[in-house]
Amino acid sequence: MNLAQLLVRAARSYPERPAVLWGADVLRNYRQLADRSARVASYLKHVLGLKPGDRVALYMANHADYLEILYATWWAGLVVVPVNAKLHAKEVLFILEDAQASALFVTADLAAGLKSLLPTGSSMRGVFTPGELGYAEMQNVGPIHTVYRAPEDLAWLFYTSGTTGRPKGVMQSHRNLYAMTSCYFSDVDSVEVDDAWVYAAPMSHGAGLYNFPFVARAARHVVPVSGGFDPAELVALSQQVGNLCLFAAPTMVKRLVEYIQAVRAPVEGFKTIVYGGGPMYVEDIQNALQTMGPRFVQIYGQGESPMTITALSRWHLAEQNHPQWTTRIASVGHAQSLVDVRVVNEAGDTLPDDSTGEIVVRGETVMSAYWRNPEATSKTLRDGWLWTGDMGAMDAHGFLTLKDRSKDVIISGGSNIYPREVEEVLMRHPAVQEVSVIGQPDAQWGEVVVAFVVGHGLDASALDALCLDHIARFKRPKAYHFVESLPKNNYGKVLKSDLREQLSKK
Ligand code: AMP
Repeated sequence: MNLAQLLVRAARSYPERPAVLWGADVLRNYRQLADRSARVASYLKHVLGLKPGDRVALYMANHADYLEILYATWWAGLVVVPVNAKLHAKEVLFILEDAQASALFVTADLAAGLKSLLPTGSSMRGVFTPGELGYAEMQNVGPIHTVYRAPEDLAWLFYTSGTTGRPKGVMQSHRNLYAMTSCYFSDVDSVEVDDAWVYAAPMSHGAGLYNFPFVARAARHVVPVSGGFDPAELVALSQQVGNLCLFAAPTMVKRLVEYIQAVRAPVEGFKTIVYGGGPMYVEDIQNALQTMGPRFVQIYGQGESPMTITALSRWHLAEQNHPQWTTRIASVGHAQSLVDVRVVNEAGDTLPDDSTGEIVVRGETVMSAYWRNPEATSKTLRDGWLWTGDMGAMDAHGFLTLKDRSKDVIISGGSNIYPREVEEVLMRHPAVQEVSVIGQPDAQWGEVVVAFVVGHGLDASALDALCLDHIARFKRPKAYHFVESLPKNNYGKVLKSDLREQLSKK
């Protein structure tokens, strides 16, 4: 088993089909993509002398050569270590060292800051920058056949964002990622040959992993010229390329929808927008559905079970007449096909329907361990179940509603308050654009609820009245901070840790 077989098969059966597009222009067909990957693989194996299982890091912004480097690595039986392009050089060095990477691909924009810092005498045998001579020379060696890997062999060593402590390397095998791909077909969407997967989010993360279903169908891959998320560019691409499918964080969905509304852009060129990675507020998904129609699918996952815990299908989202529609669109859907999902108490016992507890997951996509970190592994994987750190409740129909990360739950005067519930209420105010609710340490209550709000012409009393109308008195914010924008990470997730830090300095 080797993930690279997906590309081998696509290239054999459909060599002339367009594979990689740079903006709207076709850059490589499947034959060229496979051939180039096989040559880079050959270089890694024969010239650098890398052995199956060795790690190859990709510290790259989205790039037209990203896919060929991913596949070259698997082709040669090696392990991809994807590194978020927004990380600081010191964080990157930690990952390279921890993973003991033997080769590094780094895009030109990031290379200058890093190359001089690489320690001599480390495990690193070669550093390559696409577009530069050293990389081009890799094409001069003859191609090789794919190297056989066992299903449980490591394919993807993904470092979690690590809001607390050092990042940990999540170990995903070839089998895990095949299972994720199967779940895409059974739980997320079908893929047709003329579909186009556009990388509007970082290829080092879920958007990159979702290349597999599109390679499996020999469909198109579009790398936007901006390298990321730009609503105007996406709308243009939807018209030029057609059948666009993409992954977007909820904040990106909101921006895209607002743009489409503002310029009254046609939406026919979009096929599917998979969203997830953070909470999607009911107001926002309703607005998105109204503007773009049934083009959305939600997934809930985490690095430890990438993209694959639950899914809320386009049919669930579209079934407006279903009696449970409003609760369902506020949920993250039901368990994906190859995993079991439960909501448990601290002892690991399944809780009754609608009770809130920690979400645990078991199945084909769950990591085997954290890389060389048995202590963290034993805390997170218990009796075969992955403890996600997310709190949620499952209804009688199997639909899971996320509350919050367990560490984001606010405990005020002994009561648990789930920020998401308060955020949902504040989002109902027409002038509120974005909101994030956190707990502020308080001598009397333990913690008090505080809201950061983005919007125009707002005042605290209107928001307070809204909360009093919808939720228990003790849940309403004690303070509102009106801000220009919320701090977000590279994937569009609001950084509550930054907000807490801001509060501690006030
Ligand atoms: P990461 O490992 O960086 O992908 O972050 C995973 C975390 O993002 C999960 O544990 C959840 O807390 C959150 N998350 C992922 N998908 C969703 C979703 N659909 N709705 C709400 N939160 C989500």
